[in-house]
Amino acid sequence: MQFKESAIRVGGQALDKSDAIAKVGELLVKSGNIEPGYISSMLAREEVANTYLGNGIAIPHGIPKDRELIRETGVAVLQLPEGVIWNNDERVYLVVGIAAKSDEHLTILSNLTDVLDDAEEAKRLATTTDAGDIARRLSGGQDVAADAAAAEDAPQEYELGFEHVVTSPHGLHARPATALVDLSKSFDANILVRNKNKVGDAKSLIGLLKLGIEKDATIRISAEGPDAEKALEAIFNALAEGLEDEEEAAAEASVGAPLALEAIAYEGPVIKAISASPGIAMGPVCQLQRGRIVVAEKSSATAKAELQRLDAALLQGKTELSALHDDMLAKQGAGKAAIFKAQGEFLDDPEMLGKARALISDGASAGWAWKESYEEHAEALSAMKDEILSARALDLRDVGRRLLKLLADKVEDDPDLPDSPIILVADDLTPSDTAGLDPKLVLGLCTASGGPTSHTAIIARSLDIPAVVGAGADCLALEDGMRVILDGASGLLVTGPTEKDFAAAGTAQNAYEQQAEAERNACYQPAIMRDGHRIEVVANIGNVEEANAAVVAGGEGVGLLRTEFQFLQRDTEPTEDEQYEAISAMIRAMNGLPMIIRTLDIGGDKDVPYLTTPEEMNPFLGVRGIRLCLLRDDIFRTQLRAIFRASRHGPIRIMYPMISSLDELRAAKAITEEVRQQVGADPVEIGMMIEIPSAVMMAEEFAREVDFFSIGTNDLTQYALAMDRMHPQLAKMADGLNPAVLRLIRKTVEAADAAGIWVGACGGIAGDPLGAMILTGLGVHELSVSIPAIASVKAKVRSLSMQQARDFATRALACTEASMVRALK
Ligand code: PEP
Ligand code: MG
Repeated sequence: MQFKESAIRVGGQALDKSDAIAKVGELLVKSGNIEPGYISSMLAREEVANTYLGNGIAIPHGIPKDRELIRETGVAVLQLPEGVIWNNDERVYLVVGIAAKSDEHLTILSNLTDVLDDAEEAKRLATTTDAGDIARRLSGGQDVAADAAAAEDAPQEYELGFEHVVTSPHGLHARPATALVDLSKSFDANILVRNKNKVGDAKSLIGLLKLGIEKDATIRISAEGPDAEKALEAIFNALAEGLEDEEEAAAEASVGAPLALEAIAYEGPVIKAISASPGIAMGPVCQLQRGRIVVAEKSSATAKAELQRLDAALLQGKTELSALHDDMLAKQGAGKAAIFKAQGEFLDDPEMLGKARALISDGASAGWAWKESYEEHAEALSAMKDEILSARALDLRDVGRRLLKLLADKVEDDPDLPDSPIILVADDLTPSDTAGLDPKLVLGLCTASGGPTSHTAIIARSLDIPAVVGAGADCLALEDGMRVILDGASGLLVTGPTEKDFAAAGTAQNAYEQQAEAERNACYQPAIMRDGHRIEVVANIGNVEEANAAVVAGGEGVGLLRTEFQFLQRDTEPTEDEQYEAISAMIRAMNGLPMIIRTLDIGGDKDVPYLTTPEEMNPFLGVRGIRLCLLRDDIFRTQLRAIFRASRHGPIRIMYPMISSLDELRAAKAITEEVRQQVGADPVEIGMMIEIPSAVMMAEEFAREVDFFSIGTNDLTQYALAMDRMHPQLAKMADGLNPAVLRLIRKTVEAADAAGIWVGACGGIAGDPLGAMILTGLGVHELSVSIPAIASVKAKVRSLSMQQARDFATRALACTEASMVRALK
């Protein structure tokens, strides 16, 4: 096939990959090769598989089913001397657009691979100003003598092998060739493919494409080496199954399909929220009542003493408000700060204070009197027609509660829940709210704020409760007892379901449960992908009950033991012995399966009162995780002693949270080693969490000093996007599937690969089937997920080939928004 010079443009420019494909498509249109519609097909195909060949050359072409849009087989070349980013860091200088009615393009591929082999030649063609030069080179103007010499050098075939007739109408084109290369690389054996008199290395894409294997060609695959037989068997089976041929790939374009259940079109009104935990729940709404402040009506103290208590509380309240005002002024400007100034004025209101004092003089306690007084005034304000005045009632209640807490006998933060099944609705849930939840009674969770990585979402998944988050304030106005449907997978709260909605939800609930059961039945099978790659699926746990549950659920170990749970919900620090007992019990429960113990990660949202850490304005940016351990090395050493003493009960690894600098890592390692030697324990592997962007940027250096990385996507997301994972408005956007986070993950994996260490992921997205697929495609080796997610993540991984996961990850990386990643099919 000859190139038309008119179909070659030298010195071109493109904004990005899509622009480059569109431009080369236009060249094909102008040359009369294709209808304009074929350009969309070329763009769509790129979504299914990357057409980058190597040495700065890509070969975009359309999907086979769109061949009727091809008028005449032809090829166009767009030369981009400055190049364009194609994929990750692959840069393309020659875009060879192919429109092939049948398999003529294999000749071009064969010629291209010739150029591909020769980096210098590819470079020259990328900058030549002579279109004829490119045309001649790609039309097969290669040196016959060189070809003959190459044939002499060609490796010989091996004895062990089999013949295969290629039946695919498009021959062994780039996609199946890539699949064959990937599969071959998973074996140690040397594997060769022969087509007529040409022999190529099955582990080299160029090697295979050079063979120009067309439909009906008889090829011979042969192998030599320790696992040669196994390799040949795997290749034989893969070829028999079609080797991810194009039509098959198109049918599978929706890689989520095997596990996704049909979305329901509800008739009743819905509140759109964000999916946080799958499953469907139906039941009555219960609004969470939190922070009940208990004050006795009467006081045993004298009126004088109560008046003094009131004055002291007023003083403290004003000090708090003035500090808040100053801080707000510095951070967010005078507008926001003014709210606290105005709130402070309430504390000087003579009428309100007069009423409270009068009640105290009549024998009421200071707290009771204050509450009566501010509630009466707030009610009067909220009854006002003037919206601005009635809105002041909110402020008054806010400042009223602030003072009331100071005067209270008891501040109850435990949620007050009924003892019948409910769908719990709240603004957001704190760790202490969720700690007391009974999954048997809480059918579903809906929060007005929060995002897919918020605490609520993580807890809901770990308790296997369907949940939606980020539902907005409308959900807080729902009446207690009202029957609703919560559709966790679709991220919907159906507020007025019809009979038909209930029936559809019931059917979907059954289907969901059946699917979950099928996955559970297969939970002990390893997560081996369709092309033989294995992903380890392990559990995130916090206590011995969860260690047992993780094993029962099919966990292949523990990828994250959150040791801070030993420190939460108690009044004193756990002793070394207490920690030793707890950790030993968990190691024993794992029965020989490995466990990664993360050292104390406290601070941020996991505050522990008895550690008396000073209150911080930005706890997530404050003394948390390893920073606290290095500041309070007494706590750190005690924990490490407990861990090393327990290490004789089974295989463990140690991992540090929140590492942001090499100094921190080295300091933590030095203390760890000192404690290990004191205890006399054997060395264990040491890893670190990658959850701060600085750690990603320095990942190459870190990778040389640890045995493994575990990516904490929850924190990595909040720090990369500068969005508090608990923030009422922002958390819903703090999505770990944001392409910015995915690119950080890719960078982490690249650094780890270069240093030869492995990478796990233990944040929330690892347990989301979509997230699991993308992480796998990005090269993460171990997924550490909540216990209920183990079976479904394993099922998801098993349903994919590595090539599919990689393709999907590549498409995800190319997105610009998390919503685009979530919409990928
Ligand atoms: C993370 O940040 O992703 C993580 C796993 O740690 P945690 O959620 O405990 O902060
Ligand atoms: Mg974290």
